[in-house]
Formats: sequence, structure tokens, C-alpha cells
Amino acid sequence: ESDFNPALFRQAFPYLQSSATSVYLDSAATALKPQVLIDSTLDFYQSAGSVHRSQYDAEQTALYEQARNLVAELINAPSPAAVIWTSGATQAINSVAHGLAHWLEPGDEIVISEADHHANFVTWSMLAQQCAARLIILPINDQWQIESAVLRQALSPRSKIVAFNMVSNVTGTEQPIAELINTVRQNAPQALILLDCAQAVAHLKLDIQALDADFYVFSAHKLYGPNGLGVLSGKPESLEKLTPLLYGGKMVDRVSKQQISFNPLPYRLEAGTPNIAAVIGFGTVLNWLGQYDLQQAEAYAVALAEQTKVRLQRYDHVRLFNSPQPSSIVCFVFDDIAVSDLSTLLSEQGIALRAGEHCAQPYLARLGQKSTLRLSFAPYNTSADVEAFFAALDRTLTLLRE
Ligand code: PMP
Repeated sequence: ESDFNPALFRQAFPYLQSSATSVYLDSAATALKPQVLIDSTLDFYQSAGSVHRSQYDAEQTALYEQARNLVAELINAPSPAAVIWTSGATQAINSVAHGLAHWLEPGDEIVISEADHHANFVTWSMLAQQCAARLIILPINDQWQIESAVLRQALSPRSKIVAFNMVSNVTGTEQPIAELINTVRQNAPQALILLDCAQAVAHLKLDIQALDADFYVFSAHKLYGPNGLGVLSGKPESLEKLTPLLYGGKMVDRVSKQQISFNPLPYRLEAGTPNIAAVIGFGTVLNWLGQYDLQQAEAYAVALAEQTKVRLQRYDHVRLFNSPQPSSIVCFVFDDIAVSDLSTLLSEQGIALRAGEHCAQPYLARLGQKSTLRLSFAPYNTSADVEAFFAALDRTLTLLRE
């Protein structure tokens, strides 16, 4: 029996109070923001100073480092020093790619998958070009998953990097991640593994010490946090291998005309004045989230999505791209109607959904589609949202099929 209270959760989001007619079904793109984030951001900008610079900024510095501790707890990082602030998942992947460029030799191999977001797909493609490495793009099966046997085949003594997502933003498919990591460790022990957790972080309990990858990345904005903030985490010894993407203040220890030495992690990878408001705001969000059983909240949102899939399946000419596991993402097309027509009319009726390529053109090619519609649910959604979606869909289909 769940004691998750969706009404209480929903109340925390001002958008859902002020915009009574809007049905927000695009949380996989970005989650709505709770009032505590807005309050915290306001507080920060009404105060003075930076962090880690002066005596008077001690209080802010404490909040800033507390947020790091909360992220370490959230994902069970080996230590707060293994939590590095970035501007988002995209920058975190780029930091790892640039940071490992020095380690790649011509002919080395980088393994990604056709299910990856452009943030992963393009970044590693460009690094492969830059380093004359070979890019290997793993195919996915009809359940949209990477098979261990396929991964094993792709590995070799030249495999240096294996990087893919844990949960897809297109279909919500969860990869058999522990098994895939195991396959890499057994067949290419020299390889470093990056997991794109941008979607996973809002849906799964991440325990990065239980998993055996090297790097994990995600963005705060998908977990009710602010824009412009992300996390790079992982094994300290792997993070130590990264050449900093950015150089500047606070990442250095001693600087003279003769010599420069760097600070230890996490600061070595955090040059410049950070996005302090975002970090402190995200800490506030994580504190607030702490009162909820996130697994129950997730089960509630997934149940809404699964009901939607069952109901959608009954329509003529519909095609769903379902994940093998229950998930909060509903990805679909109607074979007789253009995605853009549907999305235009649905959005005119207040349904906020995503239509297009979902920053994953190779994945769309695999699905045999130019674009799809995507509904993505969060625990602030309700069955009234599902009803509103189907009412709008029925009106739209009638109009378009007349
Ligand atoms: N990977 C996946 C799976 C994503 O869903 C996203 C966001 N859509 C990203 C990476 C990139 O995240 P961001 O744009 O916040 O850097």
C-alpha cells in the first residue's frame, strides 16, 4: 500500500496552481520546479558574495557544500569529493571526452549505442574523429536494448571507452546495465565506462558504488532542480585521469611564473565561479524531496503512463514504441496522421508534450520514424491529466480524419 500523496506533491509546484488548464506531460524533457527552488534562488540573489572566497561568504559556502553532500547521498557516491558540478549532463559528457583525449591513440575504440542522446552520440563521435579512434555504434534489439552478446562481440583489446545511457529519453527503456558493465569488465578490462544517467536519475535509485562504471552524469533540471547545473561523478581514480576541460580560478593550488599546481577533486574540475544559486537551489530541492518515498512516487507516475499505453493501444492506426519494463514514457505515432499535425492541435488544447526527434536521430532511424510523439509522466501528474489528454486526442483525431 502506497502512502505517496500525489496531491501534496503537486501542491509544491506553482506552475500547476497558476496554470489550471495546462496538462504538463513533458517531464522527460525537463521537470517542473517546486516553490522551494524559487524561494532559495530568490534568497541567494538577495544576499551577497560568492563561495570559497571570503570570510563573509561562509554561510553560502556551507549551503553549497551541503548540496554536494546531498547529491553524494542521492547517488551513493564514494565521497562528496567525487561529486563535480558541471553546467549539465551535456557538459559532463564533454568534460569526460575532452578529459580522456590525451589517453586515446589512433586506432583505439570508443563504443556507444544507437539508443543514445545526441549529448552522448555526437560528443563521442567528434572525439573519435579528433583522436583518429574508431567509433563503434552498438545496435539495439527489438526491445530497444543492447544485448551483452552484441557488446561482447564489439569489444577488443583496443576498446578504451564504453559510453551509453542507462534509461532512454525516447522510449524510457532501461538497459540491463549491471550485465553490460560486467561484460565490459570481463572482455575489455582496460576500458573506462561512462553512464548517461540524465533520464535514470529521476526514475531509478542510483547506487553508483554498487555499479562498477567509471563515470556517471546527469542534469539537475530533470530532477525538479534548476537549469544550468549538472553532475559528474564516479570512481575517484577515474575522475583523477581527466585533464580539466576548463582552467582558471579555484581549481589551482599554487600559481607562479614558473609553475602551476592544481587543487584536489572536486575543485580541480570546477574552474571559475560556479552557478552558486543553482547548486544551493538544488540542495534545497533534494532536502524537500527527502520527505517523499521516491520509489512510491515513481510507481505512481509509471502507473499513469501504463494506463495511458493500454488505452492508446486500442486506437486504430496507432503504433507504440514501448520499453520492455513499465516506464513513465509513452512514445507513439499514428500511421495515418503527421506527428506535427497532432502535436500542433494537442498543444493548442493545452497538452504540453514533445514531438520530434528527441535529440536522438539515430534512435529515431532505428524506430523507422522521422519523428514521434512523447508523453512523459511525473508524480505531479494525475488521472485527470490522462483524461484531458484523451479528450484532446479524440477531438483532434475527429478533426483530422473528417
Ligand atoms: N542524455 C539523455 C538521455 C537526456 O535525456 C538528456 C536530456 N534530454 C541529455 C543527455 C542531455 O541533458 P542536458 O541537455 O540537460 O545537458
